[in-house]
Amino acid sequence: MGAAERVHDVVVVGAGPSGSSCAYWLADAGWDVVMVEKKVFPREKTCGDGLTPRAVRQLADMGLEGALAGAHRYTGLRAFGFGQSIEMQWPEHPHFPDYGYTISRHDLDGLVATRAAQTGATLLQGTEVVDVVVDDSVPASPLPALSGVTVRERGATRTRVIKGHYVVVADGSNSRIGRMLGTSRLRDLPLGMALRGYYRSDRHDDAFIESHLDIRDADGTVVPGYGWIFPMGDGRVNVGVGLLSTEQRWKGVNTSTLMDTFVDYAPKSWGLGAETSLGPPTGGKLPMGLSVGPRVGHNVLIAGDAGGAINPFNGEGIAYGYETGRLAAAALGHALTGAGARALRAYDRELTAAYGPYYKVARSFVHLISHPDAMRVCVQIGMRSDLLMNQLLRIMANLMRPDAPGPAEIGYRGLELISRFLPDPDALERPAA
Ligand SMILES: Cc1cc2nc3c(=O)[nH]c(=O)nc-3n(C[C@H](O)[C@H](O)[C@H](O)COP(=O)(O)OP(=O)(O)OC[C@H]3O[C@@H](n4cnc5c(N)ncnc54)[C@H](O)[C@@H]3O)c2cc1C
Repeated sequence: MGAAERVHDVVVVGAGPSGSSCAYWLADAGWDVVMVEKKVFPREKTCGDGLTPRAVRQLADMGLEGALAGAHRYTGLRAFGFGQSIEMQWPEHPHFPDYGYTISRHDLDGLVATRAAQTGATLLQGTEVVDVVVDDSVPASPLPALSGVTVRERGATRTRVIKGHYVVVADGSNSRIGRMLGTSRLRDLPLGMALRGYYRSDRHDDAFIESHLDIRDADGTVVPGYGWIFPMGDGRVNVGVGLLSTEQRWKGVNTSTLMDTFVDYAPKSWGLGAETSLGPPTGGKLPMGLSVGPRVGHNVLIAGDAGGAINPFNGEGIAYGYETGRLAAAALGHALTGAGARALRAYDRELTAAYGPYYKVARSFVHLISHPDAMRVCVQIGMRSDLLMNQLLRIMANLMRPDAPGPAEIGYRGLELISRFLPDPDALERPAA
């Protein structure tokens, strides 16, 4: 059969964390999967480069923990806020390690994509998906059914079609292909915006990542978000600010000014300044709380940032990219084994089961801290108690223990119960794409 006629089991658009994990798990199960990635690895990707224990677990499951040997292993989080600071180790957990890594996306993403390729996936790099091929014989439900995608290789003028029985859209936060199919973001739900830059620092191998909970705009007003300094272990630190845009009044805040203010204000021991800066900061959006949908069509699934999978509590998206890619692969496996396209609906159910109630609590938390006074009170109370902050870390990093309910788990259950009485965001009106 010629290349043009070949119909792959699955075509994956994008080879970031969600696309590569999906391709890995499909290839591991023996399916014929092709990943289409517009960039060529290694490639830069704007990120804080922080892997929590959740992300490490997924990488270990893909047989990649050994490949992280050169990355910087860290043991916990140091939080600063309103003049106080606290150091917290990652908690012990039956499913997750008690450490994380920092590693640049330049190095990380190629490792995972290569692992998927070594497992049997076809990786087409330098190849952009420029259009979708709609299968008009099947009604859109609610996304159009696809028979493949149209791609253009770097430097080529002509396009070609790659056919697949199923398509996974994992093209990141801007998700041009997702939006082309009709996905949109629920505008009432929070969206993060973040900026990061690298600096040379003597503290590049600090054992803690650092988070500052009282970042301010140029007028000194506390804004909802946080600043971070993540040691990279290679002479650099990754420095950034993230802003949660939940309300109109934060729409005008300039993240570049926030970044400058944060760099001025950060502890001097990090040595941040114009002379140690390794280049201008770059930024991106963080669609969070499963705010983007629909995520399931007749033969299409949306994974990772393209589906708004980032954790609103902490802006973490790499682990959720790996996890949603893996859940997508599981649903596709059932469909390909004979259950057919209907089996894809299990993906949305699994997403809701895994993240629905938790993200609902997180979204409420984000709304609360959008009010500067509420934010100040929360941080000031929290920072007075090691016990409280350690429990909060477990909740915010989604590292609660199902086997041994303690204060974090009990507190979280209370919050979840309260949030049940709040409106279900999926019932909110979705604006036209
Ligand atoms: C400033 C900033 C800091 C962050 N810090 C952290 C952090 O420290 N830890 C954390 O866990 N998360 C962090 N995040 C979030 C994290 O980066 C994302 O959640 C994660 O990258 C999502 O993975 P993904 O695979 O869904 O998308 P992406 O990583 O964006 O991957 C999408 C891939 O698709 C490719 N692509 C796009 N369009 C096409 C096309 N048409 N054809 C072919 N290929 C295409 C892209 O080149 C890319 O490789 C941060 C985000 C930002 C903006």
